[in-house]
Amino acid sequence: MTTPILLTPGPLTTSDRTREAMLRDWGSWDSDFNAITGRIRKQILAIVHGEGTHECVPMQGSGTFSVEAAIGTMVPRDGHVLVPVNGAYCQRIARICRTMGRRLSTLNYPEDRIMQPADIDAALEQDKTITHVAVVHCETGTGVLNPLEAIAAVVARHGRGLIVDAMSSFGAIDIDARKIRFDAVVAASGKCLEGVPGMGFVIARREALAATEGNSQSLALDLHDQWQYMEKTTQWRFTPPTHVVAALDQALQQYMEEGGLAARGARYARNCQMLIDGMAALGVRSYLERSVQAPIIVTFHAPDDPHYDFKTFYQKVKARGYILYPGKLTEVETFRVGCIGHFGDAGIPGAVKVIAEVFTEMGVQAAACAA
Ligand SMILES: *Cc1c(COP(=O)(O)O)cnc(C)c1O
Repeated sequence: MTTPILLTPGPLTTSDRTREAMLRDWGSWDSDFNAITGRIRKQILAIVHGEGTHECVPMQGSGTFSVEAAIGTMVPRDGHVLVPVNGAYCQRIARICRTMGRRLSTLNYPEDRIMQPADIDAALEQDKTITHVAVVHCETGTGVLNPLEAIAAVVARHGRGLIVDAMSSFGAIDIDARKIRFDAVVAASGKCLEGVPGMGFVIARREALAATEGNSQSLALDLHDQWQYMEKTTQWRFTPPTHVVAALDQALQQYMEEGGLAARGARYARNCQMLIDGMAALGVRSYLERSVQAPIIVTFHAPDDPHYDFKTFYQKVKARGYILYPGKLTEVETFRVGCIGHFGDAGIPGAVKVIAEVFTEMGVQAAACAA
């Protein structure tokens, strides 16, 4: 059986080398394994140029575990978080705040719009009790790219803390800790770094992290405790996802061989452009305006044709070797196609060709996707 190409934003298609790294077992106390953990932390820190000023704290679990750990640790229990919302992952941050009993305010936007730094500026001006702003960089629900640099400048000017869910952008879209002031940037192994899923990490400003002892109401998701234990012992506090760590180490090596962030970002941008152009040629419209589209995942309007049905479409495309992603919008029917992962330049044109074949087979007039 040939493995399908995942055009999904994590889990995604990984390389043979990355998967082969999981063929051996590691003891969690073993010094060779702990050296890998140390290496990963250093390399991730280097991606944001945070050496000397920031700390990379890995965390077991999917990406959300790390977002929850960041909110629960960086925000004091009597803190107040402002969450601008323009999609599903922003809503998830808001839900985390509510669940953990952190005071929450939101700024709401339509899902095809970016967050406005001026609105955040006004909100921080108006409400001095807001201690932190938590934003999603690339909102994977639609693929929209929020203006992180401008937002960070506003938050810094007000002297509040900034927590960034950069899950689907980290490693492909630049976040430079020397230029952008943040308390925490959160990402995970199985997205643009092209590792396998199973762990996340938080890059925290050391000064901010050092002041968080006792903030967390969770034992397992206490970043400060995880950090301190790792510093003292080089080990993870609780059982590490050893195979995931070994795979991420290999994935990071390939990341650097490829040319790091610039090369990875350029490859995804090429994928994104080929995808949008190829689908446009089939008459399928993308949901976002090009100016706010991140080169990570693209939301497309479903064909406005009675012969179209996502489940059938999905199964037929899957049978031809490609895994797509359902849409996440409630108002309009869409589907999503990821631009990230380890597949060659043939990956996207191949997927577009298959989608065209499947539309023909289903009797879908793709050109009927018109407004
Ligand atoms: C993938 C992702 C997450 C984490 O989702 P998990 O399912 O917990 O891995 C969080 N935020 C964004 C923007 C993401 O793309």
